[in-house]
Amino acid sequence: MPTYDYQCDNCAKTFSLTLSMSEHDKGNIACPGCKADKVVKLYSAFYAKTSKKS
Ligand SMILES: [Zn+2]
Repeated sequence: MPTYDYQCDNCAKTFSLTLSMSEHDKGNIACPGCKADKVVKLYSAFYAKTSKKS
């Protein structure tokens, strides 16, 4: 599952969440620090990680 990076618009905390597409599509992401739902998505690491399997 992809990892999404968010920044809280209320307390400016940044955090990462691993969400399924359906969870992400719901869009009700809450800040783990202050529980506000005013979070901004950061597009930094979207699918950037390549899985190394031997
Ligand atoms: Zn917050």
